[in-house]
This record gives sequence, structure tokens and C-alpha cells, in this order.
Amino acid sequence: MMETGIQINLTWLILLVAFSATALSISLVLWLQIWRKKRDRRKVIAQFNSIVNNSAYKYEPASVTSETAVEATDILLSNLQQAMQKNEFFLVYQPKIAVKTGLVIGAEALIRWLNPELGLVSPETFIPLAEKLGLIVPLGEWIIKTAGVDLKRLHADGLVDLTVAVNVSAAQFNAGDVVSMLVEQINATNLPPQLFEVEITESLVMDNLAKIAQMLRTLKSMGVKIAMDDFGTGHSSLSQLQYLPVDILKIDQSFVKGMQRYDRNHAIVATIVNLARKLELKVVAEGVENDVQVQILREEGCDYFQGYYYSKPLAYAEYRQYCMDNIV
Ligand code: C2E
Ligand code: CA
Ligand code: CA
Repeated sequence: MMETGIQINLTWLILLVAFSATALSISLVLWLQIWRKKRDRRKVIAQFNSIVNNSAYKYEPASVTSETAVEATDILLSNLQQAMQKNEFFLVYQPKIAVKTGLVIGAEALIRWLNPELGLVSPETFIPLAEKLGLIVPLGEWIIKTAGVDLKRLHADGLVDLTVAVNVSAAQFNAGDVVSMLVEQINATNLPPQLFEVEITESLVMDNLAKIAQMLRTLKSMGVKIAMDDFGTGHSSLSQLQYLPVDILKIDQSFVKGMQRYDRNHAIVATIVNLARKLELKVVAEGVENDVQVQILREEGCDYFQGYYYSKPLAYAEYRQYCMDNIV
């Protein structure tokens, strides 16, 4: 009797061990499958990012049609659809420094997308996709709203003169009502419109010059500042200056980077600063990374610096602290 009882218990034990082992190996296999899938997806995205961020890509859109890019685009698109609801976007702020005082005057808001599966995806990758999906309109509205709310919080902390610049793409101007979005935010925050800046890129301007010029004039008449981003990289930056109510020129990073090695780059930077003087515009040098560049830009009469030499883009709390430490 006793023996049978022990036998039964033993049988149950064996069955239990066998069951647990099977369950464990099934979960292990499943986990491995998921892990591999995630790893492969990350690889595809990483490859895609490197294609997109390769400067040659900008002039050779054909490389996007590679298999990697097509697969990555599908993965990104499916995740991007829900990214807003899942609160996966956030803004970082890159300080702008006044050349004369060395103090922070405000920041450019730059969007980030952190997806649990894909990691941090570059805006250069997902902004064009958001435009394709029509997501850029709600996304752009979220950017303007968040930048306004954060600026208000800084002002409430006594950082009252800070400005904020938002990037606005062609699709945002064409599809959405950027003017109303900004008006709404200015009213909601009750901050001076002069503290808000819109950064427009040249490619944006090419698309639909007359309509965009009109919207920019409306913004300017309210007091909002207009900056021309990546100045000097397009085909007709000078001719656009005739029509657009620009207040600020942002010298493209590529010119700043090459200044030490190439006299030509130095000459281009000096010419842009001179042009700005004549047109009574302010000049921001982007991508400032070392003290030699700082020295040259100061001598040439640049108004503001922006770049890793002063600060990388910072999350809100870090930016707030940066301002506290670098403001009179
Ligand atoms: P951008 O507007 O020309 O922004 C400057 C880019 O240069 C940023 O990259 C910034 O992190 C990077 N940068 C700043 N200082 C330095 C430096 O000293 N050295 C180097 N190597 N890089 C520097 P990010 O944030 O990846 O943005 C890339 C582009 O994506 C932006 O170029 C802009 O065209 C677009 N973008 C970013 N945020 C937004 C947004 O909120 N809306 C729209 N429409 N476009 C955005
Ligand atoms: Ca910009
Ligand atoms: Ca730029």
C-alpha cells in the first residue's frame, strides 16, 4: 500500500518535473524568438538610420528604395501610428548663447521619439514618414503646445526672457494651420509673441513660396520671429530672402565645421554674417563644437552660438538647470 502511494507520488513528481521542463523550454524558445525578432528589427532600423543620416543620402534619394529601408519604413510606420497615444515623443532643448555675453538666451526645441522596441529614432528618419502619414499636423501641434507649456514653466521660475524656437516643415505649413496653432499657444501661455520663433528650412520654402510667405508675414506681424534654418545649403537661399520676412539666419553646420580647414568655408561664413548685417538680421551659428570656431565666429560678428561646445540638446529639467546656471 505504502509502496503504491510512494509510486503514485513519484509518478506525479516525474510528470510535474517533465511538465515544468517542457513549459520552461517552450517559454525559453518563445522568449528567444521574440528576442531575435526584436534584435533583427533593431538591426534593420539601425541600418536604415545610417542610410538616412549619411549625408550622401540627402542628394541620392534612390538609396531609400533598398530592401532594408523598405522593411524599416514598414516597421517604423506601424509603430509611428500609435506613438502619439503612447506618449513616446518628447522634446529636448538645445541652448542658444549670446556671443557678447556668453549667456543663454533661449533654445531650439528638437523632437525625440523613444520607442521601447526600436530605441531612439532620429527625427531625420521619422519626420518625413510622419509627413507621409499625415501625422505631422497633430505632431506639429503637439510640438508647438509642449514648447509653449515648457516656456511658460521656465518663466514661472523667473527665467523670463528666454525664447523658444520650433522647427516647422513644409507639410506642416501646407496641411495644417501653423498660424492658428501658434496664436492659440501664445494666448494660452499669455507670453509675449516675440519669445516664439519658427525655424523654416529652405526645402520647405521651395515648395509653396507664396502661401508660406503669407503665413510668415502674419506671424511676423504678431511679433513671432522667423529664422531661416540651414542657411546657404539650398539653391536659391538669396532669392528667397527677397520674399520672406526673415529675422534670423542660421548658418548651416557644414560651413561652421569646415571653417578651420577650408578658407572657403570661412569666407562663406563671413559673407553670410555681412549679408545679415546689411539686411539687419541676426545670425546664429549652428554646430559650434570647439573654441577655434568660437573665436572665428566672434571675430566675424556672429550674434548667437548653438552647438555641442556649449551644450547638446537637453531634456526639460536639465535645460532648466542649464539656464539657472547660465543666466544673470
Ligand atoms: P536642424 O533643425 O538643423 O537641427 C540641428 C541638428 O543638429 C539637431 O539634430 C541637433 O541635435 C544637431 N546638433 C546641434 N548641435 C550640434 C553640434 O555641435 N554638432 C553636431 N554634429 N550636431 C549638432 P536632430 O535633433 O537629430 O535634428 C535633425 C533634424 O530633424 C533637424 O535639423 C530638423 O530638420 C529635424 N527636426 C528636429 N526636431 C524637429 C521638430 O520638432 N519638427 C520638425 N519639423 N523637424 C524637426
Ligand atoms: Ca532647426
Ligand atoms: Ca539647422
